[in-house]
Amino acid sequence: MSQYIQPFLDYLAASPTAFHAVDGAQRALLDAGFVRLNEHEAFSVRPGGQYFVTRNQSSLIAFRVPERGLAPFRITASHVDSPAFKLKARMEDRSVKPYTRLNAEKYGGAILSTWLDRPLSVAGRLLVRTDRGLESRLCDLGRDAAVIPNLPIHFNRAVNDGYAFNVQKDMMALWGEDADENALLAELAAGVKAKLEDVAGHDLYLYSRMPASVWGGKGEYLSAGRLDDLECAWTCLTAFLSAGTAEHLNVYALFDNEEVGSQSKQGADSTLLWDTLSRLGEALGAAPGEVRAAAAAGFMASADNAQALHPNHIDKYDAQNRVLMNQGVVIKYSANQKYTTDGVSAALFGEICRAAGVPVQHFVNRSDVMGGSTLGGISNTHVSLNTVDIGLAQLAMHSVWETAGVRDLSYMVDALRVFYRAGLRVRADGAWDLEFRS
Ligand code: ZN
Repeated sequence: MSQYIQPFLDYLAASPTAFHAVDGAQRALLDAGFVRLNEHEAFSVRPGGQYFVTRNQSSLIAFRVPERGLAPFRITASHVDSPAFKLKARMEDRSVKPYTRLNAEKYGGAILSTWLDRPLSVAGRLLVRTDRGLESRLCDLGRDAAVIPNLPIHFNRAVNDGYAFNVQKDMMALWGEDADENALLAELAAGVKAKLEDVAGHDLYLYSRMPASVWGGKGEYLSAGRLDDLECAWTCLTAFLSAGTAEHLNVYALFDNEEVGSQSKQGADSTLLWDTLSRLGEALGAAPGEVRAAAAAGFMASADNAQALHPNHIDKYDAQNRVLMNQGVVIKYSANQKYTTDGVSAALFGEICRAAGVPVQHFVNRSDVMGGSTLGGISNTHVSLNTVDIGLAQLAMHSVWETAGVRDLSYMVDALRVFYRAGLRVRADGAWDLEFRS
């Protein structure tokens, strides 16, 4: 089994929410000697240094400055949020005695039916009153605590004929009987050494407690929650950390809110990436225009998982441009630029994979299927540079338990390590000098 499986499963298990996923990446960066910068303070950076910055505790940008200072950017971007249910400000519903239910809003495009009849828990962050003011603390109930029960088939004979779930009515999670008022918040507060009366705010989400599993005739599949897009978040991080410092400026970006359109202060449609890169340039004493030149000479991989061929529904896929699990990194295309890939970025990334010995697959939707979009195109409206949209093939995207291929983790890490190390120099618009080192 791949050396990467267990570390990846450990990261997944510790990442029930975007806050936790960023926290896990942050801890790995600190362990590797990265220095935290704060957006509310001046950036102090030096050539040869390695740094990261977070925004809202749910997005993160890390970078390694080469010895020569500002240099062309080499960026991976992935997202840490997944479809979920966010508990409302007043989360307890006691309208049907003796039950206490949890009232939550849908976050992103979940396959609703997959959330029913399975153990759920609650995690996120609490804003806690302290003697100095307020402090955000990550929290996780960490136990089976709620279930969204199905209606018995005897009361809904049509459930197997295509049932339209109503989020407000069908998706209320059962939490207990005659529960004490605010018992959930009190338990979460106790978990972060705070008192209930000191909880001044919260961002809390339901998450599935189903553990990850490696399965299949030869153990070729891996199923877990939040593979989209923590599989890319983790493989990008692993490659970024192992690639070391290069002659260009390596950047690792994690964004929140991709599942709801990226339009937030910390999403890919925010100023976060440009703010960070331009402030980095200023801190390195760059002349006007030099940061723009570093972007123009840069290359970005927008990494978000792709739709693997579903064996029961092959009619949903383009016959020539469909992809499989365990068959390598996927390059995603869209003529209408839902994906940023074009001939140039596909060729550049293809050469990188060729040098890495990693197989490449090509995904294009059927021409009568709209498909999804992702970070690359949105981020390019703020920081424009050659970008390729890539991902790993998976089944059941946006189910609470998704499936991917075990061999693909190492394909992605190997490809992105070469991505972070390769010499790619722009000679002219449309001409590149390439140099690959092992
Ligand atoms: Zn995604």
